[in-house]
Amino acid sequence: METIWTTYQDDLGPSKILLIYDPRIQLRAFVVVDNVSSGPSIGGIRMAPDVSIQEVVRLARAMTLKNAAAGLAHGGGKAGIVADPTMPAQEKEALIRAFGRAIETLVDYIPGPDMGTDETCMAYLRDEIGRSVGLPLVVGGIPLDVIGATGFGLAIAGEVAQEYAEIDLKGARVAIQGFGAVGQHAAHFLAERGAILVGASDVNGAITNPAGLDVEALRKFTKEQGKSVAAFEQGTPIPRDELLFLDCDIWIPAARPDVITTEAAHKMNTRLILQGANIPATLEAEKILHERGIVCVPDFIANAGGVICAAVEYHGGTQGQAFSTIEEKIRANTQAVLRASKEKGITPRDAANEIARARVKEAMTYTAAG
Ligand code: NAD
Repeated sequence: METIWTTYQDDLGPSKILLIYDPRIQLRAFVVVDNVSSGPSIGGIRMAPDVSIQEVVRLARAMTLKNAAAGLAHGGGKAGIVADPTMPAQEKEALIRAFGRAIETLVDYIPGPDMGTDETCMAYLRDEIGRSVGLPLVVGGIPLDVIGATGFGLAIAGEVAQEYAEIDLKGARVAIQGFGAVGQHAAHFLAERGAILVGASDVNGAITNPAGLDVEALRKFTKEQGKSVAAFEQGTPIPRDELLFLDCDIWIPAARPDVITTEAAHKMNTRLILQGANIPATLEAEKILHERGIVCVPDFIANAGGVICAAVEYHGGTQGQAFSTIEEKIRANTQAVLRASKEKGITPRDAANEIARARVKEAMTYTAAG
């Protein structure tokens, strides 16, 4: 018992950890409600054979900070279902529906999609318990990966950060690691603002073109034709992970965690990093980048477009309202974080943590204990 308390608890939470087990259908799951002082928690359901409670506790905290930083009326939570997400569709539906029934009374957790779950799963949950975000269009959802909510937010963060990084978005050279949902939309919205895509990668390889890649042609090539960026003829292929060191003005991680290591941070050749992926850099690496004068807008500030869109959907808003809310919140938050970082001489992540934690602490003063 001792270890449970000392391992997981601090001054913010988590407020509840629910373990779910149904041997009849092999449902093993956990839900972590981290902090609900700003409102019911929103966070995704991760389905993976190796998802652990420790991971879900960390992800739930990340959602508390992300939602607080975005100024949403929601706390942070997260769920894990220990299962293979590629199981047959009927089995997956049964598991998701059973999970839904198990969390029916846990009304301070609103589930959304994460790795291994999607809008179809969210539709089953809505049918079972009447609450979920990230729904299909036909049941009132705003398809955030189709409209590019997160990529749009990254471009807005870039608009604010250009002054701090001493670059001009118009003509800025951009490299994107991970040309998926987030990466492609970030490329599109940055190109609309005059930036030039000079490098891109996916799991299969990377290409570069100092004169600029045609973003829309590359999106069609990868998305509609299902091909790798590495085969795009406008670019010169380079080893995939060499993209990290490409000479550019803006570097966007939009794939995996922990790709910017301390070693990489010493060698990166950019002015600004807009973190699309979650935890793409180690804390030590972010310190090095800061010392080198490379501005790094942290993940939970820069990539909050998706959860802001989900919150707008939950409250019955439209796609247009989602875009204007993302713009308003990410503009204000990026400005607040980079200004505090500059004034106090601390990393943008430390500044973002201070701001988010202060908001959660203040919200906690308005709610009764217990
Ligand atoms: P996605 O699956 O659509 O795209 C991921 C892309 O990364 C793919 O092109 C894949 O080939 C590529 N990739 C994988 N491993 C790679 C590697 N080692 N090197 C280079 N490329 C690699 O996923 P997504 O929705 O675009 O999400 C990307 C990241 O952004 C994830 O970390 C996700 O957690 C985070 N994120 C996504 C959203 C969202 O709205 N989708 C919101 C916040 C954060």
